[in-house]
Amino acid sequence: MADLRAQYERLKPEIDKAINEVLLSTNFVKGPEIKKFEDELAQYLGAKHVISCGNGTDALQIAYMALGLKPGDEIITTSFTFIATVETMALLGLKPVFADVDEKTFNISPAEIRKRLTPSTRAIVPVHLFGQCADMEEILRIAEENSLYVIEDTAQATGAEFIFSDGKRKKAGTMGIAGTTSFFPSKNLACYGDGGAIFTDDDELARKMRSIANHGMQERYHYECIGVNSRLDTIQAVILRVKLKYLDSFNEARQKAALFYDEAFASCPEIIIPGRTENSTHIFHQYTIRVLNGKRDLLKKHLQSRNIPTMIYYPLPIHMQKAYRYLGWNEGDLPVTEQLCKEVLSLPICPEIEREQLEYIAKSVLEFF
Ligand SMILES: *Cc1c(COP(=O)(O)O)cnc(C)c1O
Repeated sequence: MADLRAQYERLKPEIDKAINEVLLSTNFVKGPEIKKFEDELAQYLGAKHVISCGNGTDALQIAYMALGLKPGDEIITTSFTFIATVETMALLGLKPVFADVDEKTFNISPAEIRKRLTPSTRAIVPVHLFGQCADMEEILRIAEENSLYVIEDTAQATGAEFIFSDGKRKKAGTMGIAGTTSFFPSKNLACYGDGGAIFTDDDELARKMRSIANHGMQERYHYECIGVNSRLDTIQAVILRVKLKYLDSFNEARQKAALFYDEAFASCPEIIIPGRTENSTHIFHQYTIRVLNGKRDLLKKHLQSRNIPTMIYYPLPIHMQKAYRYLGWNEGDLPVTEQLCKEVLSLPICPEIEREQLEYIAKSVLEFF
């Protein structure tokens, strides 16, 4: 789906040098490189604080913990996301409440959020799916009217920008009280293992997040709250420092590839290309089409026979997963999400994808129809 090897080869001298310096310094955990990366990412995002941690799942858990969310608190989120968004709520005893998504952008629908509000609602967790921001202007309005926290799951959208109706632009993850991201190798800003981060402009919340990520420790061996052990390795931090410099150009290359696909599929009546909104840039973590008339799985098979990998993000919504049946949701409760799960197909995309590859993939898709 993504050519990680080609990207490494492009950056090899810089990355190898950075890793070697860590090996010689023996600062494998913590140390000045972590702070440098956090400061550089904060500057890039326009966030006051970046707190690095072990992965994007931990980032969500630490954010929920630091905000003091309690068992039974209702959190409105999407059922059309990677499991981590919801799993971390379940682990803390929070109650995920699902709002259906917009069929064009795949993102949580503000109108559906409104329908799910109750006196127990404490937070909204939008996921900027596939690299495009959810409708943050409307989500922030709902949150303000109802005194709710907004925690943005930005794992697929690091570097995407939301554009408010007054023209103001903000980076994904910097609009709510907190944003979280992942540096898993396939993400837009990625390291060579696991990594994650939390963003916030709130000084006290940032202090609390740092403490929770470090066992709840305040001074050495004095614990103010129950925490976890979640750190970004120094080797991952120096890799990320190299890659952050290229993030915008990588995202632009993804946009170019997406445009090629868009044009290739524009006249195919059985494909719906990814919907765009004027309120957000789209950095194409995934290029995800909808295949109509029940032909998705056959197209997937056809592409497989042409040696083209594809993925289904996601085949079964969270509210219909066995582990989450206890929440009491049934098939039919989220019709748009359920329909999308039957139609979506993600095609290969990465900054290094070549024109020839795009042409071959597009031709193979079209010959199927
Ligand atoms: C990847 C991802 C995560 C989790 O990140 P990890 O680093 O793998 O723990 C969370 N939410 C979404 C939407 C993701 O895509």
